[in-house]
Amino acid sequence: MDERIRQDHRLPEAEALERLRRFQPDPAASRRITEVALDLAKQVRASRPAALSAESFLRHYGLSTQEGVALMCVAEALLRIPDPDTADALLREKLSAGQWGKGGGAEGEGSWAASAADWALMLTGRLARWREAEEEPVAQLKRLAARLGEPVVRTAVRQAMRILASQFVIGETIEEAVTRGRAFDGYRFSYDMLGEAARTAEDAARYFEAYVKAIRGTPAGDGVSVKLSALHPRFEEAKRARVFAELLPRVAQLARIGVDCAVGLTIDAEESERLELTLDLFEELSRKHPLGLAVQAYQKRALSVCDWLVGLRRRISVRLVKGAYWDGEIKRAQQLGMPDYPVFTRKAATDVSYVACARRLLSAPATLYPAFATHNCRTVATILELAGERPFEFQKLFGMGDSLYEVLLRTRPLACRIYAPVGSFTDLLPYLVRRLLENGANTSFVHQIADPAVPLETLVADPVEALPEPYSPDPRIPLPRDLYPDRLNSLGVDLARRDTLDSLEGQIRAERNQEPLGEVESTTPQELDFSIARAMAAFEGWTRMPASERAAALERAAETMEQRLPSLVSLIVREGGRTYADAVSEVREAADFCRYYAAKARETFQEPLVLAGPAGERNQLSLHGRGVFACIAPWNFPLAIFTGQIAAALAAGNAVIAKPAEQTPRIGFRAVEILHQAGIPADVLCCVVGDGEAVGAPLVADPRIAGVAFTGSDETARRINVALAARPGPIATLIAETGGVNAMIVDASALPEQVVDDVVVSAFQSAGQRCSAQRILFVDEGCAQRVMRLLAGALAELKVGDPAEADTDVGPIIDAPARQALLRHVERLRAGARLIGEAKAPASGNYVAPVAFELALEALPKVEVFGPILHVCAYRRQDLGKVLQWIRATGYGLTLGIHSRIQGFVDSVVREARVGNVYVNRSMIGAVVGVQPFGGEGLSGTGPKAGGPHYLFRFAIERTLTVNTAAVGGVTELLTRPLN
Ligand code: NAD
Repeated sequence: MDERIRQDHRLPEAEALERLRRFQPDPAASRRITEVALDLAKQVRASRPAALSAESFLRHYGLSTQEGVALMCVAEALLRIPDPDTADALLREKLSAGQWGKGGGAEGEGSWAASAADWALMLTGRLARWREAEEEPVAQLKRLAARLGEPVVRTAVRQAMRILASQFVIGETIEEAVTRGRAFDGYRFSYDMLGEAARTAEDAARYFEAYVKAIRGTPAGDGVSVKLSALHPRFEEAKRARVFAELLPRVAQLARIGVDCAVGLTIDAEESERLELTLDLFEELSRKHPLGLAVQAYQKRALSVCDWLVGLRRRISVRLVKGAYWDGEIKRAQQLGMPDYPVFTRKAATDVSYVACARRLLSAPATLYPAFATHNCRTVATILELAGERPFEFQKLFGMGDSLYEVLLRTRPLACRIYAPVGSFTDLLPYLVRRLLENGANTSFVHQIADPAVPLETLVADPVEALPEPYSPDPRIPLPRDLYPDRLNSLGVDLARRDTLDSLEGQIRAERNQEPLGEVESTTPQELDFSIARAMAAFEGWTRMPASERAAALERAAETMEQRLPSLVSLIVREGGRTYADAVSEVREAADFCRYYAAKARETFQEPLVLAGPAGERNQLSLHGRGVFACIAPWNFPLAIFTGQIAAALAAGNAVIAKPAEQTPRIGFRAVEILHQAGIPADVLCCVVGDGEAVGAPLVADPRIAGVAFTGSDETARRINVALAARPGPIATLIAETGGVNAMIVDASALPEQVVDDVVVSAFQSAGQRCSAQRILFVDEGCAQRVMRLLAGALAELKVGDPAEADTDVGPIIDAPARQALLRHVERLRAGARLIGEAKAPASGNYVAPVAFELALEALPKVEVFGPILHVCAYRRQDLGKVLQWIRATGYGLTLGIHSRIQGFVDSVVREARVGNVYVNRSMIGAVVGVQPFGGEGLSGTGPKAGGPHYLFRFAIERTLTVNTAAVGGVTELLTRPLN
């Protein structure tokens, strides 16, 4: 692959755009294009889309309406829900609001069943048009619904859902698809075996068979689109070697079958993080096999990809699309703290990029055969202008753009292909909903052409005219770095790039060989005593320093951590046994803590708070450090938690004696060194090392220690609490963050694939050695079998091993005693519970293979098992109360996950939960500083939450100052009032 493509990935947007300008049509051509586009648009707007087409659905129920959103929610979930109660709960919730049918069919009825019936009728095609419901059948069905009750309506809506699905999916099998396709005279097809990406080897094998069948069943001349992530459960950059060894031969085999059947194969475009891998595979495969490739114009590197394709000088058909994962790309870049986005933030920029790419692809007619996938009149007109006599085709989605292509094909002899999804409605609806969201978004052409309020002239205007001069990105989408108003977001590195992975791997290997981790000597009692004395002496000066100066030092430390990210990552991998992904998020979190507490200190510690009161008096409240704080951290977040505790204590004006865990002293030293270099005086912050008995216990027992910030096990927290209570002198502050027995509750409306993705992350990332890690999965028995099967398959895909290798998913257990305890627990489970699935661990080394067991509620562990062991319990819907009660009875309250499509279910669980951090429809680990302030209640900790707005106050004392300003000669502010 071309180096240029790599470089352009996250180019500043203005720069990426400038390059596209010279590929735009000149003013005269642009005017001609506008004319043609306007003419097309007029005809399209005047035409009526077929009554039951996807397009008419979108026109009438745009996603900006309550009904449209409700429909999407129902469509996404209904068909997969196994039990009637959950299905009814979903329908009741989603359909009770909104105005269905003509003039709001269900208005006044107030019953979800009535609106569902109304809606089902419309969809089942008994009515000619979406909106123009005749009263009679609606009323009839409503009466029927009232008489026969919810089951009838549920069946009707299920049926309606299938009809809706059939507007977007051409057939459930390839035979059905081809038969239905025959009705579309003049079109060619590219069948698309749509679906979720494969999570398991079994999924991948099933998709492979589906592709083989599809290719064999497709008429010669038509094509099949291939989604690589469906053919391999780990289609990721980090797994490159595996992907080349396993996926490449599979695609090659499909390509050969394609040649035999005269069916062209096109590799579909996916998330930007898979592009480099896709292109390298494509380069290899297209040497021997005729293959097509999809290119997404919304990526900043789209033009470079086109250049590269031209340079390959091979016969390739290229499908140019705008791109279907835009929102996901933006979100991911923000979450990963990327320096910039892989995609344009403005829709018009994507349109401009599309034109540039089109021109480039059209420039090599001897080798490239471009296909332009669009439903946009302006884009179509532009292609017509640019292409001239050169060969190309248009592509449209099945069910979309019908009116446009009808108009177009009526007047011009053009080649057009329909991109047609094939597959089971149940599997495809969730997937299609996201396509719909993309095409139905307010900015989309399909949506706007249906809206008479949008003037056609605006709609078909040259996208260049819509760009600001000079170009700037959409101000509503700040760069990931600028996400927060009061501080910088931490900078991440892109672990989906080969060059990043290679350089980290190289560094870790070199450091491992050059400087093996030597012994670290424990701090002696004399040294400890001396350090505390020194800190005591330094405290006053530090707390009197303006908060902004303390904050500035912390911000410098954050900066340094980011600059030294690779070496910190290397140390965390080597000493802490963390994987790359974990180690990178450690460094980011540490930097975030520094900046967050710096910002909070500026906000609340810098100036005293002036309080309201009577005339003649000034009242103010100020915050100060408490004294010398002991910060005691666990090994499992050796940099982030350690730094977070210290940064908070320092920001609030305390001196600090910091003790990293005995397993990870070097990371602790390194963090303190960085803080010193950033300007924290050596006597204000001192690092002591050693185990809990020898160093931790005497530290907290010392009466000079004003407070303790502790994170670790609840036994240790209790011991510290007792030690503090036994000391003479002032009562010390204790902030303790401890463990949890964290559960996720999944109902029958959840999407099993999403559930399993999130469970694997929550339970097994960091080998389950996170306080937030999921220990228990409660899953509704209606979907339990499917979830467990997927889980078993996903477990088999995990690579357990040396974290220094970039493709490792799960690293070692921190030490031998911890491993032994976990293995004993697994043995007990093997004897008394059903094994669901397990990963393989290397024979030697300190590993425990991730594993999942099924247990009854009564058999679940009520204590924290700190490793990659998941306990799964299938529950009956009516037993949800018992489940919640069980969770409460553990006494812990750290994290809780919920997966459901039913808001009512989510609300009821949240209401009952007594836990610090609840996560809905996502993983339950990875709290972000300032975004998800973190910490539990009950046995899980004292609070306040780390990375939250109330944390610093616990590190401070408050003093008020009241001055009688009337003491010298009266209440001046009253006496000097202006006369009126
Ligand atoms: P741990 O309790 O064994 O040790 C934590 C720290 O306390 C270490 O630095 C240790 O040396 C020190 N220590 C031990 N005995 C002491 C004593 N008597 N006096 C003073 N200090 C003493 O915990 P760990 O094994 O390092 O960490 C894992 C535990 O931490 C798990 O239970 C996990 O859930 C919990 N944890 C909680 C959070 C949270 O935010 N709630 C975050 C990470 C880890």
